[in-house]
Amino acid sequence: MAEQGVQPQSVDLVVLGAGISGLTAARRAAARGLSVLVLEPEEQVGGRSASFDVAGVQVDVGARRLPSTLDPDVLEHLRGLLGDDLQTRPQRGRLRVAGQWISYPLRASDLAARMPRRLTLSAARGAARGPARRRHDDTYQGVLRSGLGPALYDAVFGPFARKLYGLEGAQLDPEQAHRLLASERPTRSAGQVLRRSRNREVVSPAAFLYPRGGFGQIPAALAQAAADSGARLVTGAPVRTLHARTDGVRVIWDGGEVHAAQAFSTVPLTDLGRVARPAPSAQVVQEAAGLTYRSMLLVYLVHEGGRWTSYDTHYLPSLDTPVARLSEPANFRTNPEDPADRTVLCAEIPCTLGDDLWESPDDVLAETVVATIAALGLPPVRLGGVRVRRLPKAYPVYALGYHQRLSGLSAWAERLAHVTAFGRLGLFVQDDTHHALRMGWDAADCLQLDGDVASPDHVVSLDHVAWQAARDRFRQHETQQD
Ligand SMILES: Cc1cc2nc3c(=O)[nH]c(=O)nc-3n(C[C@H](O)[C@H](O)[C@H](O)COP(=O)(O)OP(=O)(O)OC[C@H]3O[C@@H](n4cnc5c(N)ncnc54)[C@H](O)[C@@H]3O)c2cc1C
Repeated sequence: MAEQGVQPQSVDLVVLGAGISGLTAARRAAARGLSVLVLEPEEQVGGRSASFDVAGVQVDVGARRLPSTLDPDVLEHLRGLLGDDLQTRPQRGRLRVAGQWISYPLRASDLAARMPRRLTLSAARGAARGPARRRHDDTYQGVLRSGLGPALYDAVFGPFARKLYGLEGAQLDPEQAHRLLASERPTRSAGQVLRRSRNREVVSPAAFLYPRGGFGQIPAALAQAAADSGARLVTGAPVRTLHARTDGVRVIWDGGEVHAAQAFSTVPLTDLGRVARPAPSAQVVQEAAGLTYRSMLLVYLVHEGGRWTSYDTHYLPSLDTPVARLSEPANFRTNPEDPADRTVLCAEIPCTLGDDLWESPDDVLAETVVATIAALGLPPVRLGGVRVRRLPKAYPVYALGYHQRLSGLSAWAERLAHVTAFGRLGLFVQDDTHHALRMGWDAADCLQLDGDVASPDHVVSLDHVAWQAARDRFRQHETQQD
């Protein structure tokens, strides 16, 4: 599938990045008969949705839950590619709060029975005041403190922000709070349940979609489908320069170059700013230098002795440990091919590129995770091996003022002739996979073909009006609130 041989000199579409957004776009454009070339710097496709093998277990690099509320057209497409392998799964997680395990997704009964009374009361008072007060809040801390109450903020959401984003809640944009409230993560359910528990409503566990062979089965299937439709994928191909010209785009990478009528960029917007010509102005570059990403260490521990627990994820907001989540990939699916005598745990440790954690050797990181497990009273790990993956750009950080720092770079990218940027880091948004899928899908649909695709005279352009409408829809999910 991924090839290094003779590359075409000219294509209708070049796609930078073989993550889930780029692959979706490539597949959809190729299925319309367009010639498509995908360039990916890593050796594997999938980006932050990929999986790989550790001790015979498929483990995930980033994404692990596809919401079952996925758009029906995209879902139908994925079901067509994956069939019964795309399983609907109940969420089985636990959140550690105030020294207690609370089941996640949260159930009102569990919350009332297990959460310290002062937190429940504080949350209920905060929830009662909720939306009206939020309008006046201009930081993450302000939104969540006034919405959920100071006790709950201090126990869960404040430390969670510090750990996940490396900043105090008062240094984060309110968008961050809206994101957390709207996302599939425990914070959202806390808000929902706390409000609903006041109405004695019991929340049933949310379902999610997950492929039998690991989350990376989705991008792998998309890549195969794109290749079957005629798209060419080149891995190990970091893009060095992209020249945006009036007659199209010239892309140069380590190992080749191509002319394309259109380019889709799903690479980090700040990286596009470095490789694209005409380059952004010095002022835009200076402003964009203030945009930051949170890095992530993924520490995979092989546990000899069958399944470790029956949970898929343990969420750890407390600052007592640098670990934010502990998950067990085999519990996300039913797969008879998963080994019975061992499992793999994945510990997510957010950090900053180059800090002490980032620089820690693998064995020290493993010791940190094992010590965390012991301190929490979780079953001990019978360690059979360690693998560590380092993600330099895991989350775009919504620090206060990021909108202003981003605006010049975004405007520059929108003016680049024949180039369309989208995807999670392509737009510097904390979107999930279903959003990334949607973006790739809609971008491909915005390509207009003039003439017969089989004729060398055909012209491929972007319907800018349709794309602007799609961007407006993306902003809707970017600002979605609980
Ligand atoms: C730790 C973590 C956990 C997550 N959990 C979930 C979850 O449970 N559910 C969910 O829905 N979402 C989750 N997400 C978000 C999800 O991973 C992303 O929304 C999705 O993978 C984004 O896809 P994308 O194609 O936009 O970007 P990416 O997956 O980042 O793909 C971009 C691609 O571009 C490539 N690239 C980078 N630089 C260049 C360059 N210069 N030239 C060419 N290519 C380049 C990259 O290698 C990558 O393959 C999680 C993310 C992280 C980091």
